[in-house]
Amino acid sequence: MNILADLKPELVFSYFEKICAIPHGSGNTAMISDYLTGFARDRQLDYLQDDYGNVIIWKKGGPGYEQLDPVILQGHMDMVCASEPDYEIDFQKEGLQLQVRDGKISARGTSLGGDDGIAVAYMLAILDMDDLPHPPLECVFTTDEEVGMLGAAALDMSVLKSRRMINLDSEEEGQFMVSCAGGLSLTTHLPLKREEASGICATLEISGLKGGHSGMEIDKGRGNAILLMGRLLHYLQKEIPVQIISISGGTADNVIPDRSTAEIMVRRDDITEIDRLVKALRQILRKEYILTDDQVDVSFSPEVRPTSSRVLTTDSATSLLAALLNLPAGVQKMSFALENLVQTSLNLGRAVTRETEILFTYSVRSSVGSEKDHLVEQIGQLMKSLGGSISCSGNYPAWEYRPNSVLRRLMTEVFEEQYGRKPEATMIHAGLECGLFSATLKDLDCVSIGPEMKGIHSPDEELDIASVGRVWDFLLEVLKRMD
Ligand SMILES: [Zn+2]
Repeated sequence: MNILADLKPELVFSYFEKICAIPHGSGNTAMISDYLTGFARDRQLDYLQDDYGNVIIWKKGGPGYEQLDPVILQGHMDMVCASEPDYEIDFQKEGLQLQVRDGKISARGTSLGGDDGIAVAYMLAILDMDDLPHPPLECVFTTDEEVGMLGAAALDMSVLKSRRMINLDSEEEGQFMVSCAGGLSLTTHLPLKREEASGICATLEISGLKGGHSGMEIDKGRGNAILLMGRLLHYLQKEIPVQIISISGGTADNVIPDRSTAEIMVRRDDITEIDRLVKALRQILRKEYILTDDQVDVSFSPEVRPTSSRVLTTDSATSLLAALLNLPAGVQKMSFALENLVQTSLNLGRAVTRETEILFTYSVRSSVGSEKDHLVEQIGQLMKSLGGSISCSGNYPAWEYRPNSVLRRLMTEVFEEQYGRKPEATMIHAGLECGLFSATLKDLDCVSIGPEMKGIHSPDEELDIASVGRVWDFLLEVLKRMD
């Protein structure tokens, strides 16, 4: 018990330890949510708890700060529960077993939930201290961030008066997160017509690609197995009649597909030549992708006996390849505000062929809302010209970069004084809760920070103790300097 008792800042670590003793995985936040309201009640602080378990706690400004504009401090109360294969724990009922090693806190056999328990601990410590110089506070603790930002999406933000916010859900000390992507899932529908044909059925396969996350790894130059299948089919069709039965591949819109297959129908006499062409394209791709996907493979497996099957008509096959070869894909634009970061992209994550249509599902992302909208228009227009259509779901807003941020300027100033170097402003090509807040709270000035964490969402998660202290000092100084 009290494994963190000797660590400084004491109050922050004592709250962190209390939180770790309360089970608080995503979808299991009732206990921690009630703990927070109990905390507020005990200290006679105004609070609100909504139907989703989100909690807001208000506190007056410190002495001399009562009349200032308020500020939101924000983090999420849920954590990703990950454990080592043999480690037994009931995350619904049991707390975590903390351990301190080499200046880091971790949990035995499980993830630690420093993401985002440390935000909760910081906020509780600030709320618990009297006479601290800070503007009026609106501390927002959201639920189920890790499973689609459900709490923040449901939160009635009209109760919040602040138009400046420090989000405490970043995990790299010295990095200011200042923008994030918005996104949506887009599916193209292309109707298919079929006709009976006979010949030799064969399978084409593209495999051996690295794949990866469609937000974080879209700029790594990795091959997309479905797009490469389009290229392969086109490459073959230029030389030899190949009839298409189906194309499939990928698992989800937000994963770069590492493998795809196509069922085709060919003439027995063409098998040798197709084999040669497939090998030739494999050589070409091996060369093109030597730095990013050196294991890329292309294979052709014809069946022995002739058969018959319903293949795409020539028109349908032409439209299908026109879509695959011409729909925009990958990075569309890099940011100029924050160099070397992706601003707008899309990933073709999944292909599914049915009897009468083929569906391609994309994850579309941009940190500029209008660019995302335009990309959707562009795809819609092209699909329409091919006789198809699109549908969208799961739209979430971007947190757009703010060229003139008073909050960022103040935080940069304080950071330089305390650390003797410049902080790095960055953005993430994925969604953050800050996007939902800035979409609702007009003109929200927001920066996201946090102490140093490694291995979040895994049993290897570690929280760097010294960085917790430095970020604490930094946060208090920023609050003190606000006007
Ligand atoms: Zn988080």
